[in-house]
Amino acid sequence: MAVRVIVGLLLIVAAFGSAGRRLLMLYRLGRTAQPVEPGRIRVGAAQLRGEAAEVLGQRKLLTWTVPGTAHLLTFWGFLILGLTLIEGFGALVDRDFHIPWIGTQPWLGFLEDFFAVAVLLAVAVFAGIRLRHRPAREGTRSRFFGSHLGGAWLILFMIFNVIWTLLLYRGAQINTGNFPYENGAFASAAVARVLAPLGATANDVIETAGLLLALGVVLGFLVIVVHSKHLHIFTAVPNVRLSRRPRALGALQPVRSGGKPVDFDDPGEDDVIGRGAIEDFTWKGMLDFASCTECGRCQSQCPAWNTGKPLSPKLLIMSLRDHALAKAPYLLAGDDHANVDALALAEAQRPLVGDDGVITPDVLWSCTTCGACVEQCPVDIEHVDHIVDMRRYQVVMEASFPREAAVLLRNLEHAGDPWGRGAPARLEWTAKLDFPVRVLGDGETLPEDAEYLFWVGCAGAFDERATRTSRAVAELLHTAGVEFVVLGSGETCTGDPARRLGNELLFQELARQNVQTLTSAGVRKIVTTCAHCFNSLGNEYPQLGGDFEVVHHTQLLSRLLAEGRLTPVRPVEATVTYHDPCYLGRHNRVFAAPRDLLGSVAGVRLTEPDRTRERSFCCGAGGARMWLEEPLGTRINENRTDELIATGAEVVAAACPYCIDMLADGVAQRAAEGVTVTDVADVLLRSVRQPEEAS
Ligand code: SF4
Ligand code: SF4
Repeated sequence: MAVRVIVGLLLIVAAFGSAGRRLLMLYRLGRTAQPVEPGRIRVGAAQLRGEAAEVLGQRKLLTWTVPGTAHLLTFWGFLILGLTLIEGFGALVDRDFHIPWIGTQPWLGFLEDFFAVAVLLAVAVFAGIRLRHRPAREGTRSRFFGSHLGGAWLILFMIFNVIWTLLLYRGAQINTGNFPYENGAFASAAVARVLAPLGATANDVIETAGLLLALGVVLGFLVIVVHSKHLHIFTAVPNVRLSRRPRALGALQPVRSGGKPVDFDDPGEDDVIGRGAIEDFTWKGMLDFASCTECGRCQSQCPAWNTGKPLSPKLLIMSLRDHALAKAPYLLAGDDHANVDALALAEAQRPLVGDDGVITPDVLWSCTTCGACVEQCPVDIEHVDHIVDMRRYQVVMEASFPREAAVLLRNLEHAGDPWGRGAPARLEWTAKLDFPVRVLGDGETLPEDAEYLFWVGCAGAFDERATRTSRAVAELLHTAGVEFVVLGSGETCTGDPARRLGNELLFQELARQNVQTLTSAGVRKIVTTCAHCFNSLGNEYPQLGGDFEVVHHTQLLSRLLAEGRLTPVRPVEATVTYHDPCYLGRHNRVFAAPRDLLGSVAGVRLTEPDRTRERSFCCGAGGARMWLEEPLGTRINENRTDELIATGAEVVAAACPYCIDMLADGVAQRAAEGVTVTDVADVLLRSVRQPEEAS
């Protein structure tokens, strides 16, 4: 017993000493970061639900069936096998130790052994997946490309060691009569049968050696975990708990500096807009970086990475984490850097964004803000917020952005739309309608009989393809007897492209102007055809005091169909595939309404592309990328177009003017004969029109 106690204590002191020092350093590093917004630490039903679904239920991981199931078993295995750790530490001082009350129940013995075996199987599955999808075989297509492969194999090896040493000493315990369970522990019993012929003395030695080995492995594992990317084992739980609910998509967060919201009417002299250094991130940002498991699920879905751009959301987060750790001695030294080592000093000199920076401009500007990474991330890392925050600093503090963006920003500033067409042209789209569209004049309030303000959007007013959608929706609303008005020259860009490009000042200017116009006109209900306007008006304008009920046209039309106010009468014989726009689907969870519309039309044969709904692949236009050149890799819109064409559809339907433009360009580029790209409203209109009307 003395050997057990002495060696056991030495192991515990060494491991906890090493792990404790590391954790203290990480804690102090987190304290050098910015405060989080107050709502983050609130514990509400949404947070608890999120924790239960994503941590206990492993919801996101289970969308990947095989690795998800293996991870579920491993996670629960760690929880249940935590009990064997208590038993192990107890057995150091008392060979007959068992957990009080439940510690001799056969069901507990069974459960522990069940999970021991399950974790072993899971390790085999993980190893198989890693071998099958190894970067050496799949190159950049592998989700493990760029991950620390050696570290991951070491962890699998350590888990394997945890399990076999556990079963070894439990088997020996059965033979020495020191096992807490009379039956139920089937795997330990099997090991006991193998060890039994060795005799009592040997089993005695194996019990002690196995126990010390098992505890040594677990404690070694602890030390490795806190020094490696597997820190996520500890940080994932708080990270999920502190993540934005229901998800870090939809609205971008208001700009905060030093933990306080920036007043754009009168910004403070020391206010930092965005993140220009690693310590400008909040401690939740740091927790995000520490929580990345390097699983690569985000990378596998990223449209930028999948088309040969240098941006991988995984590599971006890993770079930020590695930089934070490398700069840590500098940050922790406070104002006295005399004793900081040369490597940390050099790291501190690296710009966060720059050609020699932690993140290169090509990486930063490749993002479409599609949100596929956030959607996939099992530990709820908020990539889009971090990317836009870095863009904010580049644009506002450094005036550094892609050359082509200057034209977009100038047009938004001077004309209020990305094309620079100007307010007077905003009603041209109505000219081809055979009924008058009511326009809200300057200073007028919404007429009592007008139910909706139809927010046309810049594309809906100026882009030729999108104006067709505007007319289709106006015609459908008119047919259904829905009274609506438009703002005409009173409308200006919602500011979505400016905000996603990082120009928060311009966003604030445009958005405040619109909030003022809409509020003073007494607008309550808004319908819009643009997924980006839909997102800004509904999710971001409340940040500026604009509280409106915003619906996407697919939602309103779907309701009008259900109420019988629109009746599709004419079959549209066509195979149709639907492309989920990121800002309608992933960002705002509108998946059913567009499909309902298409499903209501007789003759339509709906076929889904491989990447659909939450996993839809971006068209390439979001994040203001619509107005930027795409010189790197292949084109995102062509990648998506190929997939949509491969469904065999004659009609590619979408529900966002940006997507329709990008996909129509893709179809033209591929010279796909007989394939048209249109809005779902257009398909519905073809069916709603009486046969003699349709021409
Ligand atoms: S938002 Fe989309 S484009 Fe940007 S990093 Fe994430 S997956 Fe890639
Ligand atoms: S950011 Fe999330 S999804 Fe991407 S590799 Fe890290 S843990 Fe996995």
